[in-house]
Amino acid sequence: MSDLLPVDTVLAHVLAAAVTLPDPQRVPLLEALGFVLAQPVVSSIDVPPADNSAMDGYALRAEDASAPLTVSQRIPAGHPALPLAGATAARIFTGAMIPPGADTVVMQEDCSEVNGKVSFSSAVHRHQNIRLRGQDVRSGETILQPGRVLRPQDLGLLASVGCSDVDVYRPLRVAMLSTGDELVEPGEHSLREGAIYNSNRYTLAGLLRGLHMEPVDYGIIPDSPEATAEALTEAAQNADCVITTGGVSVGEEDHVKNQVERLGCLDLWKLAIKPGKPLAFGRIADTPFIGLPGNPSSVFVTFCLIARPFLMKRQGVDEPAVPSLQARASFTVSKAGRRQEYLRVTVEATSDGLRATRYANQSSGVLRSVSASNALAIIPAGRTVAEGERVDVLLLDLLV
Ligand code: AMP
Ligand code: MG
Repeated sequence: MSDLLPVDTVLAHVLAAAVTLPDPQRVPLLEALGFVLAQPVVSSIDVPPADNSAMDGYALRAEDASAPLTVSQRIPAGHPALPLAGATAARIFTGAMIPPGADTVVMQEDCSEVNGKVSFSSAVHRHQNIRLRGQDVRSGETILQPGRVLRPQDLGLLASVGCSDVDVYRPLRVAMLSTGDELVEPGEHSLREGAIYNSNRYTLAGLLRGLHMEPVDYGIIPDSPEATAEALTEAAQNADCVITTGGVSVGEEDHVKNQVERLGCLDLWKLAIKPGKPLAFGRIADTPFIGLPGNPSSVFVTFCLIARPFLMKRQGVDEPAVPSLQARASFTVSKAGRRQEYLRVTVEATSDGLRATRYANQSSGVLRSVSASNALAIIPAGRTVAEGERVDVLLLDLLV
């Protein structure tokens, strides 16, 4: 395919090819952060398991509240309650069980206790300040569905129903290959003439780790057909997906595309986005392959737009999409070209809503444009944007 493909077409194709790996594993709840849930979780208990007090105060029958009541028992949280004796009140604390027979809690600020008798200074409404059994979770209810990336609050919810471990998908192993004769690893103190430091390796490893995946690093691959083929073959045997950077355009020093076509198949390339036109997707043997561009900003953008949802779906995630917001542009775009643009911008909250300011140099080789920004502003192909107009923005914190 030589025509430029719109990002949605590419994404739909790539997602259709994303098969989730079938081997879940059980991990302790404390270690499950960021993993993808592989099985539904059904609660076997009500949460809370009993009616309990939402306040420190006194539990009583609402109908008894008009006269001072003898304090007949004291119920701290975590201790059993006796049935409430007739026309009495129980001293009670937040989280403590409501004694059988009581239907109301009056908070202590509205009570005065003198010589073992308590009276109430405010109007008393039946059922007030009682947290009902099962108001959070009901026994038999499915609390979490598979395909969800576990967040801290999900771990808390799982713990609240008594789960101590969960079934999750194992982290994807993703092979990373940085192609280019010009690349040198940081740490080498002087750059030989013509060389640059390999930055894509670090961006990519970070992006993968952020998704709780396991990068398998194949380092720098020289620009030769043999070295490219050898590294691709080995990577495909040892990983659940292979990702390369660079070497995917049409120059005679670009070997990735040809070698993937030789070793497997290539489904598509040439994405109608800026930055990031050359992007390859295919397979080497049975292992999916994604060839990202070489330019560092393009790597970031194409990873977030295409590789991320593919990998997340392969990892078992149900909803890899990220919602966009709208912000007012503090810049103009005279006319976007044939490719949808992803401008690196900083989105700030103002009294007038969100505002997006564009990083000055949007060249695909300028990695600082990504580092200095917190969002990508989406400018559809051919669109003109006037200052103050609304544009869609994707927050980077939701993507990485
Ligand atoms: P290519 O697609 O291989 O022609 O690469 C496009 C541009 O990205 C060239 O300027 C490369 O030097 C640069 N580039 C490729 N790979 C990397 C990398 N790993 N780190 C930094 N820059 C890179
Ligand atoms: Mg290259």
